Amino acid sequence: MTQEELFKKLIAHCKEYGFVFQSSEIYDGLSAVYDYGQNGVELKNNIRQYWWDAMTRLNENIVGLDSAIFMHPDVWVASGHVGAFNDPLIDNKDSKKRYRADVLIEDWMAKQEEKIAKEVTKAQKRFGDSFDEAMFVKTNGRVLEIQAKIDAVRTRMVKALDDSDLPEVKKIIEDCEIVCPISGSRNWTDVRQFNLMFDTKMGSVSDDANTIYLRPETAQGIFVNYLNVQKTGRMKLPFGIAQIGKAFRNEIVARQFIFRMREFEQMEMQFFVRPGEEMKWFEFWKEKRMSWHKAMGLGEEKYRFHEHDKLAHYANAAFDIEFQFPFGFKEVEGIHSRTDFDLGQHQQHSGKKLQYFDPETNENYVPYVVETSIGLDRTFLLLLSSAYNEEKITKEDGSTDERVVLRIPPALAPVKLAVFPLTKKDGLPEKARQIMDDLKIDFKCQYEEKDSIGKRYRRHDAIGTPFCITIDHQSLEDNTVTIRHRDTMEQERVDASRLREIMEEKVSMKNLLRKI
Ligand code: ATP
Repeated sequence: MTQEELFKKLIAHCKEYGFVFQSSEIYDGLSAVYDYGQNGVELKNNIRQYWWDAMTRLNENIVGLDSAIFMHPDVWVASGHVGAFNDPLIDNKDSKKRYRADVLIEDWMAKQEEKIAKEVTKAQKRFGDSFDEAMFVKTNGRVLEIQAKIDAVRTRMVKALDDSDLPEVKKIIEDCEIVCPISGSRNWTDVRQFNLMFDTKMGSVSDDANTIYLRPETAQGIFVNYLNVQKTGRMKLPFGIAQIGKAFRNEIVARQFIFRMREFEQMEMQFFVRPGEEMKWFEFWKEKRMSWHKAMGLGEEKYRFHEHDKLAHYANAAFDIEFQFPFGFKEVEGIHSRTDFDLGQHQQHSGKKLQYFDPETNENYVPYVVETSIGLDRTFLLLLSSAYNEEKITKEDGSTDERVVLRIPPALAPVKLAVFPLTKKDGLPEKARQIMDDLKIDFKCQYEEKDSIGKRYRRHDAIGTPFCITIDHQSLEDNTVTIRHRDTMEQERVDASRLREIMEEKVSMKNLLRKI
């Protein structure tokens, strides 16, 4: 199965099993806006809790916040979003499709990198065991030629974007002979800037003075509350404020399912530090965030750091954590050293002092900030795309079957355990209900008595339920039940009185938190 096919299947699976629906589907949907169904919302809540606990419980110096989506319009002037939260866009005149100009160029560079990878594979086949990849890449003429082309284009693009030189961005697209993926033509419009913020009017008078924005990031709510939290929480530097909430961006290229949405959710943490110490904390948070990801056990090779080619105007260092999605390595989280830019700007625009008095040095200063910013929806997609597996299985009678199983880490699975009476009679449902009632306070459980046990297993494999418990006639006699494990499909018989303890050990969020 190609990665593209896998991704299509995953999207269909998300809909069929109540994870993600297109928004307003009965009205033919709203582009790049999605709703989370009965299983999706549970998974999302679990990811949210994993992040929240990792931030606010494991770190005594990080506290939470829930600021409003609407903020004073001057916040977005101070933050630079009104003036500079732009993407360069370009239209193809034949297909009438709109693209982000920098993304077109990045895709072109990725294609060149694929060409290098092909040369490497070819050479590997030719040379066999004696093949030295590092040496080949350093010396092969064809590879060096392609790499030089990529490097030159990257340098030009970074400079053009830095200088906001839009004609040059277009020239790069022309020079690279980039064609529209839909029409195949090179008939492009000029490159223009497009502001990504949604705006609306507050109150009854509709004039420009009342324009307010739907926040494009949650971070600014943290900055403007920094002193409130610092003072009321008696926080000492270094300390952090964590927030989870909706953000809105009028994305030009909204595709790839929930990877790029117009309404999405961010989990952000701003860590306030002494000026001069930001690089130490930047390194600290880079490693910490990576270990949060790795603790989920999806495969270390699926992650990598990517250093920004072009630093945002507020940053003095920036790395992304990228994950290998079915459509390639893409950003899931950013770690940015934002200097004192944001607090400095708010101090200037609001006229209010946002300084910190450092009792150790007896100085007043505006703290520096290191931020970690991760998309909740992208993490959801990351989990599902690595969890989705199609497997051939051999049944007890020797016949073969197929199953789709979501290997979601048990602590994050939407349903932790399913409880099945073997049949609908002989007092088995009553016994199963009793067990379910006992466990449902601690774990998200689901009771099912329809269809054969095999079919019930399949349904729960498909939503990632790690454990299924079956109550049979023997259960009535000796109070034992079978636990069936999702990943190995093995079954074991245990005393029902031990279920809570066994489950607690297997599905507790503590398992993840301890690994960070
Ligand atoms: P990209 O380069 O993909 O547009 P970004 O660099 O603009 O992302 P940030 O502003 O750093 O993203 O936002 C932090 C995180 O928020 C991203 O790493 C991503 O996980 C998430 N995010 C940003 N934009 C979207 C979106 N449109 N839909 C879903 N998640 C998003």
